[in-house]
Amino acid sequence: MKIIMLGAPGAGKGTQAEKLAEKYSIPHISTGDIFRANIKNGTELGKKAKTYMNVGALVPDDLVVDLVVDRFKDPDCANGYVLDGFPRTIPQAEALDAALMEIGETVDFAINVEVPDEKIINRMSGRRTCVGCGATYHIKYNPTKVEGICDNCGEKLILRDDDMPETVKNRLSVYHAQTQPLIDFYNKKDILAVVDGTKDMDDVFNAIVNILGE
Ligand code: AMP
Repeated sequence: MKIIMLGAPGAGKGTQAEKLAEKYSIPHISTGDIFRANIKNGTELGKKAKTYMNVGALVPDDLVVDLVVDRFKDPDCANGYVLDGFPRTIPQAEALDAALMEIGETVDFAINVEVPDEKIINRMSGRRTCVGCGATYHIKYNPTKVEGICDNCGEKLILRDDDMPETVKNRLSVYHAQTQPLIDFYNKKDILAVVDGTKDMDDVFNAIVNILGE
């Protein structure tokens, strides 16, 4: 099963993608996580991506597409994947379609996790990310067992530069201008489903599973 998670930054699509990956035994591919890992490891790609990410802009399409399409060749992608944060522009969506067409495949579902902007801003300021494994939490809605410490790996949690309030506002306007058109794009292909992302995490998850099937 090939799933695309759509939604504004902070809509909770990463959290849902992680849970879906576990349920359906498919990998969770987050381009944001891939870039953050590259930044952490000081790679050339990381250095390039950082200049865009820190101001809430999108990394140029040509730096993203090959990276994702290459990842599909890994054996764990044989039964599909859940994409989180990709595609983020129409050219990326078209590049994804073209890459899949070459191997006779298509995307099965695009799930739009809908949350109004005001709620997003509120949520992002409480979001914390693990410096070790990249897991994300929320100080109020999804807290760790021990404050400031990752449940998965025990490393400390930080407020990411790109979750700072000014950057969040930028990311939201970038989202509306460049990513929101994808909703129409996948609606026209008849594979779009919308879920209310303001509900509890478990309710959102159940709504998505209802759409995808057990
Ligand atoms: P995320 O963790 O998905 O919110 O991504 C964090 C940041 O990484 C974004 O604000 C972008 O700067 C960059 N990024 C992640 N995925 C993409 C993508 N598909 N296209 C362009 N930039 C991306």
